[in-house]
Amino acid sequence: MYTTRVEKLTDLNPSVKLFRLKFQKPFIFKAGQFVMLHLEGGGGRPFKRAYSIASSPRHKDWLELCIRKVEGGSATSILFSLKEGDLLKVSGPLGKFQLNTPIQNDVIFVAGGTGIAPIRSMLDTLPLAQLKNKFYFYFGINTLDDFLFEEELKKIQPIKNFKLILVVGNDPRWKGDKGFISEEVMRKHTPDLSAKEIYMCGPPGMIRFIKAYLPNLGAKPEQIHIDAWE
Ligand SMILES: Cc1cc2nc3c(=O)[nH]c(=O)nc-3n(C[C@H](O)[C@H](O)[C@H](O)COP(=O)(O)OP(=O)(O)OC[C@H]3O[C@@H](n4cnc5c(N)ncnc54)[C@H](O)[C@@H]3O)c2cc1C
Repeated sequence: MYTTRVEKLTDLNPSVKLFRLKFQKPFIFKAGQFVMLHLEGGGGRPFKRAYSIASSPRHKDWLELCIRKVEGGSATSILFSLKEGDLLKVSGPLGKFQLNTPIQNDVIFVAGGTGIAPIRSMLDTLPLAQLKNKFYFYFGINTLDDFLFEEELKKIQPIKNFKLILVVGNDPRWKGDKGFISEEVMRKHTPDLSAKEIYMCGPPGMIRFIKAYLPNLGAKPEQIHIDAWE
């Protein structure tokens, strides 16, 4: 168990915050893994919640978590009241959601909302422009106000072998793909998944919905890697 200090808090939008936690000694992890936060509820009752690491493993003395506030949520109510300088107990790293390296096939990333966290970490470890493979990132958000890490993603967008496919649920300002990350949307951009590795992270409902149609595009179970937040 590590005692970390909340070094920096950044509002990414009204309901999502980026927490930077500082370690006293190096914390080694692989992109895609998660940590457990240990909290105290009413009456000092201890409980824990899992959060995917959103920052790059290159940074060994801090990590970032991208957390959505859940109305009435036990953990997020505590987390969203924290101030910079407060202490937070962390254990980990945990989880097998990691990139298959070296990269041999084209890669499809799929994230919904804060599900971008482990994908952000993975993207940072990839020397995209130097790789021969293609990388597609389907990012599903409700409105353009939920476009997390917009500046960072726009910076890597010009890289020729990287394509961001933003799918916006409901926003009249958006002229691109709308609604859910549906089979129709995926067929339009990546019709053949038979030789691609797929990494997905997001709300359980979204994952179930997408996983059900991936075989129709040629994906086999061993090509599908899922970070389940259930
Ligand atoms: C591997 C993994 C990685 C994760 N990574 C992230 C991440 O990067 N970012 C992120 O934001 N989340 C992530 N999560 C989700 C996270 O762990 C929490 O589940 C989430 O933050 C909600 O926790 P909470 O304690 O605030 O809500 P909870 O208290 O667990 O509440 C969950 C839901 O139940 C409802 N509820 C609570 N109590 C009651 C009650 N008595 N009656 C009726 N309804 C009730 C709440 O209103 C809420 O809708 C991850 C989960 C896993 C498993």
